Amino acid sequence: MQYNLAIIGSGPGGYVAAIRAAQLGLTVAIIEKYSTLGGTCLNVGCIPSKSLLDSSEHFFNATHTFAEHGIKTGALEADIVQMVTRKNGVIRKINDGINYLMQKNKITVYNGLGSFTDKNTIKIIKTDNTEESITADNVIIATGSKPTILPFIPLDKKRIITSTEALSLNEIPKNLIVIGAGVIGAEMGSVFARLGSKISFVEFADAMIPTMDKTMGKELQKSMKKDFAPNFYFSHKVIKVENTGNEVIITAEINGQTVEIKGDYCLVAIGRKPYTEGLNIEILGITLDKGKIPVNEATLETDVKGIYAIGDVIRGAMLAHKASEEGVLVAEIIAGQKPHLNYNLIPNVIYTWPEVASVGQTEEQLKEKGINYKLGNFPFKALGRAVASGDEDGLVKVLVDTTTDEILGVHIIGARAADMISEAVSAMEFRASSEDIIRTSHAHPTYTEAFREACMATNNKAIHI
Ligand code: FAD
Repeated sequence: MQYNLAIIGSGPGGYVAAIRAAQLGLTVAIIEKYSTLGGTCLNVGCIPSKSLLDSSEHFFNATHTFAEHGIKTGALEADIVQMVTRKNGVIRKINDGINYLMQKNKITVYNGLGSFTDKNTIKIIKTDNTEESITADNVIIATGSKPTILPFIPLDKKRIITSTEALSLNEIPKNLIVIGAGVIGAEMGSVFARLGSKISFVEFADAMIPTMDKTMGKELQKSMKKDFAPNFYFSHKVIKVENTGNEVIITAEINGQTVEIKGDYCLVAIGRKPYTEGLNIEILGITLDKGKIPVNEATLETDVKGIYAIGDVIRGAMLAHKASEEGVLVAEIIAGQKPHLNYNLIPNVIYTWPEVASVGQTEEQLKEKGINYKLGNFPFKALGRAVASGDEDGLVKVLVDTTTDEILGVHIIGARAADMISEAVSAMEFRASSEDIIRTSHAHPTYTEAFREACMATNNKAIHI
């Protein structure tokens, strides 16, 4: 079969690109090596983790905050097997939705491993080992990523696990060691901490979520300490991981000393690496750059004309919405349009409680670049809506250009930060100043008032502090 566009990989990059290309009149094929569409995000990433985060949050609230709200409960028990069953149902539902969208947009789905034979020909190796080849004028590589594992870690997927296995555990760990206190470690650690596990975070950096604005990590650590009292082993370098049968023992180094940490499970959450196995891109003359497929900054085309790459397999943040934006961009370029993507305005969210969300520059980045900025902080404890609900932890931090008042960065830790960040993204897309936000009416009482107040605070004019 011959197509205008073939896409390898059906994650949020690939399937969204397929839909956009079909909308623009292209004939499209999508190739996925697993039997279900949706990639990491739907099957072992964003959606299942949020499903378990939501279930565990209900349990935590029922056991910790219901009484204060005047709700009496009997003895409560967390049923992890049911939580995982529910999570699987959520995945199936969204899977059905993607299948429907493929049919609706007349996109041909091939299940099997896609492998280049030449620049326009892809061989599809199916699970029953039969093969089929298709040709396409253009190809998008959207093969995503896999968890990073250090070579000395004996990942057994039973006791020493990645996020993939953590999303399907059938028991609640008593002592869970989480190597890496970044986004995935913080989220999965939260799931099990809420269900009663004692968590030990072992992190090479000196704080939680080290890639975010420093204030966020500090605040998140404070909240976690209050809610679950996890053990924090910051500035610790893991040098050995061992499964002794009933126990996992981690050896880590700090200042020349070694420390042993014991648990019944160890979650390795040290990041993800691009996935290109089996693609056979070597025959196209594409050389990987630290595992990533190099692309043109503006068009995401590789060095081979008509071959594009998007999402986790290329440079930039490993985020579902970044992959989708890139998918739309490439589909539009192939269809002859001239789209643009502002990478500075891709928001970053962590679904802990409180949630963390940010967009634009961090304070550390502004300092490093020598940009003069003003800072406005507004704490949630000064916000009526937050006091009413009992979610008083956190703050909104706004960074504006000293001369122009343009908003350069917004960092939120607090209830509903994940949804609140959208206002900042839209404002910054229109290059709003803090005064633009101050002059915009915000409904009372809402969490969004904290963003407006933080903008006021950049001029020391917040009303409620
Ligand atoms: P993927 O989603 O990885 O999809 C790639 C697909 O390509 C896979 O289905 C794979 O099977 C297929 N494939 C690979 N090679 C071949 C081949 N040769 N032939 C055929 N098919 C192939 N991001 C967020 O934005 N928000 C979140 O809340 C969030 N939570 C996360 C939680 C966890 C636990 C994890 C692990 C990740 C999370 N992410 C989140 C990251 C997000 O999942 C990824 O950034 C996103 O899935 C990347 O999309 P993609 O399309 O590039 O690749």
